[in-house]
Amino acid sequence: MNSYDIAEWGQPLQHRLRHTPEPGPDEVLVKLSYCGVCHSDVHIREGFFDLGGGNQLRLSDRGTKLPLTLGHEPIGVAQAVGSAVSGVEIGRTYLVNPWIGCGQCRFCKAERDNLCNNMRALGLASAGGFATHLLVPHARYLVDADGLDAASSAVLACSGVTAYSAVQKFGRLDADDWVAVLGCGGVGLMGLSVLAAMGHKRVIACDIDDTKLQAAQQVGAAAVVNLKTTPGPAELLKISGGGLAHMVDFVGAPATSQLAIPALLKGGQLVVVGLFGGALPVPLPALAMREVSLRGSAVGNTAQIRELVQLVRDGKLKLPAVQVRPLAQAEEALRDLEAGRIIGRVVLDTAEAAG
Ligand SMILES: [Zn+2]
Ligand SMILES: [Zn+2]
Repeated sequence: MNSYDIAEWGQPLQHRLRHTPEPGPDEVLVKLSYCGVCHSDVHIREGFFDLGGGNQLRLSDRGTKLPLTLGHEPIGVAQAVGSAVSGVEIGRTYLVNPWIGCGQCRFCKAERDNLCNNMRALGLASAGGFATHLLVPHARYLVDADGLDAASSAVLACSGVTAYSAVQKFGRLDADDWVAVLGCGGVGLMGLSVLAAMGHKRVIACDIDDTKLQAAQQVGAAAVVNLKTTPGPAELLKISGGGLAHMVDFVGAPATSQLAIPALLKGGQLVVVGLFGGALPVPLPALAMREVSLRGSAVGNTAQIRELVQLVRDGKLKLPAVQVRPLAQAEEALRDLEAGRIIGRVVLDTAEAAG
């Protein structure tokens, strides 16, 4: 099998040729068709996330060992199963939920692996999908995606489920509530698509790039705000007629999240998803007096990916267009993503590399 791996933190990915593994009793070997390239991959390759104030969350401190095959938006065909696996059909196409926990704690037992303290996510703590083959620890991480367009469905495993899980955290959402989506990269566009699938109309898309804002309008944003030319909360307050019920920050930078207190209505909520990095100084009396909630959201679980697939099958969720590139261009894709040169999502064609 072929894979593209981090051999050294912060260095270009390296091509590696090795034996295709045999699945153990509970494992499933998937011959990959595509794997999406996520902005987190840029941070993972660097080896850390910026926590603000000069602090870093280092993957090596969390037990990640190199070499590591990157990639956590895999979709492919079941090729071989272990002796204890049931319910998987060889030759059928499955999305792989890469957000895999320890399997032992109360969260994992409730299939809420994304809340596990000892996650061993594919492409982050164990081998991921920038490869021709992927060993999945258990069949319960597979979601039947047979018959869907595999290239555009790959992104459901991270950007799709991340956006879906974040928007679900809004809780109550009335038709006349205004919401803002901050950041219109791959996950932001998925967030807009999920809101459109829910039939919600009053959505303001914010970014600092007009091309991304045009893409946002195409997936249903009712209004757009360029935060570079129109910074601050004034435009958001004007469009919404006084304030937003919810904001979801797919950037996760101080410049975006700090809009929460001035732009949200009383009782409003900010959901922080993006991992750009930094810290947010919050005036605590304003938080109390305005009853604003700040909450985080990271990825999602197998059940949510299954729900997303159903939304696609029902024709409710339109998947954003993807750019397909060969697996061998994984490194260039990361560089383009880092430089902000990608609109939407790049998906690597891993089947072609298998030959
Ligand atoms: Zn991701
Ligand atoms: Zn666990």
